Parts: sequence; C-alpha cells; structure tokens
Amino acid sequence: MSNDVICPYCGADVEINHDDGYGLEEDLIFSQECDWCAKEFVYTICIEIHYDAKRSDCLNGSPHKYKPTADRFPETHRIRCSDCGKETIQPEFLRP
Ligand SMILES: [Zn+2]
Ligand SMILES: [Zn+2]
Repeated sequence: MSNDVICPYCGADVEINHDDGYGLEEDLIFSQECDWCAKEFVYTICIEIHYDAKRSDCLNGSPHKYKPTADRFPETHRIRCSDCGKETIQPEFLRP
C-alpha cells in the first residue's frame, strides 16, 4: 500500500507521515504540510476493501463449527460458527 498522496496545491507526490501512529484513524481529518510548496493540506483515510474467501462447509451440508463467542456476558451462552458466523445459543441453555 502506498502512503503517497498528490498535493492538492502543487501536484507533487507527498509521502504521508504516520510517525507515532498519526493519521491512521478512519473518518478523521488530518493535516500535513507539503514538502514541496510548504502549503498545509488535509487528508482522510480510505481503508481499501479486500475480500478473503474461504470454504464454509456448513453452508454445504456439514454441521456448523460452533465456538463460544468472546462475549462480555458469558452467561448468555452465545456460540458462533467459526466458518459462516451464524450465532445461536448453546442448545442445552435454550429455554423450553
Ligand atoms: Zn504542494
Ligand atoms: Zn456455519
């Protein structure tokens, strides 16, 4: 991934400076000075979308691979399939 942007004033390639983690939060406006024309510009982050495909046997006839969720309320006994993400309650804790 490139950290370069085009300066909106002079059109130069400017490398965004993320020292100390600055400017890594989405939906915030950050500013930086252009190395070339010394004008201050602002930028926002667009995280690139990418897709990660994997097999999900449970959607093709196999049982779901339920695991307990990292829930703040373990007493809810929620479990989630590690493949398809389907959530449910552990059967033995379902109310009749
Ligand atoms: Zn510039
Ligand atoms: Zn599943």
